[in-house]
Amino acid sequence: MNKKIWLSAPHLSGEEQKYVRDAFKTNWLAPKGPNIDAFETDLQNYLGGKKEIVALNSGTAAIHLAMVLLGVTEGDEVLCQSLTFAATVNPIIYQGANPVFIDSEEETWNMCPVLLEKAIKDSISKRKKPKAIIAVHLYGMPFKVKKIKEISKKYAIPLIEDAASALGSEVQGEKCGTFGDYGIISFNGNKIITTSGGGILITNDKEQKEKAIFFATQAQDNTPHYQHSYIGYNYRMSNVLAGIGRGQLAVLNDRVKARRRNFEFYKRELKESGYLFLEELSGVKSNRWLTCMLTNTFEEREKIRKTLLENNIETRPLWKPMHLQPIFQNYLVFTNGISENLFSKGLCLPSSSDLTEKQLQRICSIILKHTI
Ligand SMILES: *Cc1c(COP(=O)(O)O)cnc(C)c1O
Repeated sequence: MNKKIWLSAPHLSGEEQKYVRDAFKTNWLAPKGPNIDAFETDLQNYLGGKKEIVALNSGTAAIHLAMVLLGVTEGDEVLCQSLTFAATVNPIIYQGANPVFIDSEEETWNMCPVLLEKAIKDSISKRKKPKAIIAVHLYGMPFKVKKIKEISKKYAIPLIEDAASALGSEVQGEKCGTFGDYGIISFNGNKIITTSGGGILITNDKEQKEKAIFFATQAQDNTPHYQHSYIGYNYRMSNVLAGIGRGQLAVLNDRVKARRRNFEFYKRELKESGYLFLEELSGVKSNRWLTCMLTNTFEEREKIRKTLLENNIETRPLWKPMHLQPIFQNYLVFTNGISENLFSKGLCLPSSSDLTEKQLQRICSIILKHTI
């Protein structure tokens, strides 16, 4: 049996252990310390210097804190992209609020601006104004930033940007994660760089950053004893894991290059056989975190997926839309059929940054042999 090929595996630089050792040497084994400060500063610089960064223990925690800071509370509505990972939606429920799901458009597979506006008008006329919008740069492909931002501004509804898997992606030269009122990025083990588990909240200013840290560290009042006037959370990143992040961030640009190379390889080998690969709109750069392809039918997709699995190669159907999930099926949804179609025919291909040409070639030839 050939060695297992994973969908998206961690890829170390070799520098991570140096920073982790420093944490041990200096006894900073806490959710506080020099690695956290340096990691936040490095990310701030990478993201263009205008934003403030808060290192947290997951991307999900970052989304939850964004909801808390925006005052999302019981009975509120939050407009949420339906084609995404459940982690985008769950924090809405943690706050006792109701998601309103918005389907995708065809050019980026992300939140459809037309349906978004329709949903806002529906909420305002029938109930009340939604509290927030959460849009996702799926698989690293930027959503229609200009249009979604315009709508967010027009109706004065804050935008949370789920850039969990879009570190390194850009629109008009600006980095994803910096477009919303709040942005979030994940460093889970399968993302483009990892801290084994972790994330950041991206805020507009120091005041918001301090508020986020306050809530992320159990909301302690400024008193010598432990005193609390708010409900807090334990969401800060560990200084040990921030060390891994520093070693990873140093090679981020190489990782983006390698993932984009994977995409180009698959497209070159497979496009002519009738599979669809999503192109970048003008001015857009995707980090190509995962290469996804659209097959012609559900049966074809399943045949390819199962054959690859028999060959010890991991793939994954595109996200099952949230409005089709058993746990979320009673919430409002604005659909156009696009996300359902993507779910039934789409497949995420192995996309690790350390894949060899030989491995890529082997994956492609298995797919081509089993094309219907
Ligand atoms: C990974 C991911 C998250 C969650 O991040 P964690 O760090 O795993 O909590 C949220 N949204 C999307 C789109 C993701 O891909």
